[in-house]
Amino acid sequence: MSEPEILLEVKNLKKHFPIYRGVFKRIVGYVKAVDGVSFTIRSGETVGLVGESGCGKTTVGRMVMGAYRPTSGEIWFKPPNGEPPVDLASVDSRRMKALRPHIQMVFQDPFASLNPRMTIREIIAEPLVVNKIARGKELERRVRESIEMVGLQTHHLSRYPHAFSGGQRQRISIARAMGLFPSLVVADEPTSALDVSVQAQIVNLALDIQSRFGLAYLFISHDLGLIRHFSSRVVVMYVGHVMEYAPAESLFKRPRHPYTEALLSNVPTTRPNLLGRKIILRGEPADPANPPPGCPFHTRCLYVQDICREVMPSLEEIEPEHKSACHFAGTLDLTGCDALGCVL
Ligand code: SF4
Repeated sequence: MSEPEILLEVKNLKKHFPIYRGVFKRIVGYVKAVDGVSFTIRSGETVGLVGESGCGKTTVGRMVMGAYRPTSGEIWFKPPNGEPPVDLASVDSRRMKALRPHIQMVFQDPFASLNPRMTIREIIAEPLVVNKIARGKELERRVRESIEMVGLQTHHLSRYPHAFSGGQRQRISIARAMGLFPSLVVADEPTSALDVSVQAQIVNLALDIQSRFGLAYLFISHDLGLIRHFSSRVVVMYVGHVMEYAPAESLFKRPRHPYTEALLSNVPTTRPNLLGRKIILRGEPADPANPPPGCPFHTRCLYVQDICREVMPSLEEIEPEHKSACHFAGTLDLTGCDALGCVL
């Protein structure tokens, strides 16, 4: 069976934010929030983007959404209407507006992302009206369909956001995004503001909608359990760079980058006798305004060698579809979830 087509292809994407100083606001440097990120998303799949806070994963999501203009790089998106792929990094605002219904976002905080002065009906209808997709009876039909799709009821439509719990508000955010039938949804930490008991419901809802409508997700999270549960492929980021990019099964079973190994060693384990195996990363992540030479992870890596301090490793394929940016990825025997007994 042939693979689904590539829906999104991100190529060497960079976002450098200028640092201004002095009365004349001179540029004195740049924060390299994203510095050469590449990955693809196929139609209907979920790609997880994982890493510590400040690694640049949210900035990548915002560039895909068109909220930030990249410093350089390409973001090729295939519209669903048979048109050729479009580079979102270089389209004008008019074209981006026309493409917007196909790429939607679910935000981290369902309390801040819903306007408290609008009813749920108005909140879900708004993108359909703004994008001139539906009006009148058709608009009402689509609003009702959307609210039912996320497990709420049509009598909820006349209420305001404050009447709902965090989990219900996130369902409403999802209904608003799904009402446009997007082909790609960028979900930025969609469950991190929710109770653990509600997180699983939201993830299962997102998976159910994916299986029914065949949309793709870029799922941004620092939670490895959710990433494993949700993603078919995973991108591990560190200080604006991709450290590892692989099918989820392969990455969790046998990581090929020391940073991924350290992340996995810190998840809860079923084997208490392995607790000493936990890798405590020394120091802070490198400063993206002043990154170290060579491998960005070398200041914290257990396996650092002289070459790591001078030469930046490139992202190389170690085995089919499994890429790592480590000089020693082919020779290091790193420990994965099977050996660690990860509870994920
Ligand atoms: Fe560690 Fe060197 Fe590999 Fe970087 S290149 S992850 S410092 S072993």
